[in-house]
Amino acid sequence: MEKRVFSKSFTQQDAIPEAGIARAIELMQTGRLHRYNLAEGDINDVSQLEIEYAKWQEVDYCIACTSGGYAIQLGLRVCGVKPGDKILANAYTLAPVPGAIQNVGGVPVLVDIDENYHIDMADLEAKAAATGARYLLLSHMRGHIADMDQITDICRRYDICLIEDCAHTMGAKWRGKRSGNFGKVAAFSTQTYKHMNSGEGGFLVTNDAEMAARAVVSSGSYMLYGRHGARPADDVFDAVRLYAPNYSGRMDHVRAAMLRAQLPQIDDNLARWNRLYDRLHQHVLEMQGTVIPRRKQEEFYVGSSIQFRAESLSRAVIPDFVSACHARGVELKWFGDETPKAFTSRYDSWKYLGDMPELPNTLHILDKTLDMRVPLTFDIEDCDLICDIIAEELTRFSSFEAAS
Ligand SMILES: *Cc1c(COP(=O)(O)O)cnc(C)c1O
Repeated sequence: MEKRVFSKSFTQQDAIPEAGIARAIELMQTGRLHRYNLAEGDINDVSQLEIEYAKWQEVDYCIACTSGGYAIQLGLRVCGVKPGDKILANAYTLAPVPGAIQNVGGVPVLVDIDENYHIDMADLEAKAAATGARYLLLSHMRGHIADMDQITDICRRYDICLIEDCAHTMGAKWRGKRSGNFGKVAAFSTQTYKHMNSGEGGFLVTNDAEMAARAVVSSGSYMLYGRHGARPADDVFDAVRLYAPNYSGRMDHVRAAMLRAQLPQIDDNLARWNRLYDRLHQHVLEMQGTVIPRRKQEEFYVGSSIQFRAESLSRAVIPDFVSACHARGVELKWFGDETPKAFTSRYDSWKYLGDMPELPNTLHILDKTLDMRVPLTFDIEDCDLICDIIAEELTRFSSFEAAS
């Protein structure tokens, strides 16, 4: 029988909405792209975006910047991280996270994860107690939100400043409260593969006026912070403006125009993602030999990617299984690989951090963890075909293994 093949691209995002394209062209025609380059009566797209995003996110202050990784770095700095400070972080995350810690001179204290891809609460508490770390950089990795009641309780008891990395949780909630609104500051990414797309970009958000003022100046405002949108009052800037270094990392008007056009559609897009995710989740749940993480009821997730474990396969055959799916057009990433590939890397490959602790649960869970991106250019039938292919290959590989 001819094997069916999936032919759509796993990296194809939606087009930028027409209004965003039109505004970007208009801006390019004026040549006024820098966020502080404003003629009399100009709209100031970046500042408007900051106001609109802060409103949607339900926070007081928002600083638009060059990338999500930059926003994390800036967040760590305004929270007061100094070289040598210890920073707790879940070991299952993307490489810009350890990179940001290293960039600010922090010393990472990597924490194990549990089988649902959340930070392991017992390990977090043990390491908070043992190291005296005063910062937790928490990635809601692949959209899995840990029990935020427990997290905030641990942070309160150990006097830990929480920095949230919401690169995969823009729009997600825990008990009705938006991801990003639990810590002192939160970082978001608007890089192409996230929930809004400006190619590159990010936001830092906070309700703390002094941190916001320092973030604005450090993002590279010079003395033009008055041209920011969701910002604190002038007297807050008076106190910090000569003490916050300029770490130049501003967003420009063209990117802001693309994002402003996407924001009114974001809630619809989140619902579209979840329709696809729920279909995929249902199929994977029904497959023999797979385990899929449990979602907590308190969580409103955004399923822009899906993770599951191929428990019926041995570690040794996973690369061949991934290749077989790939040959039929289905792109799975294997988080258990020792060798970093494309965007995916395991924590023990971040050699610049020095010796890493052995994190047995993380290694065990990632060992068979497969990850698939879910672009909005897919539809429900695509989800069905993709899962048929995965299930067929899984059955084929499992029976090889049973026979050998
Ligand atoms: C994408 C991502 C980032 C960084 O975002 P960039 O905008 O690419 O710098 C940080 N953390 C996680 C978990 C991410 O996936």
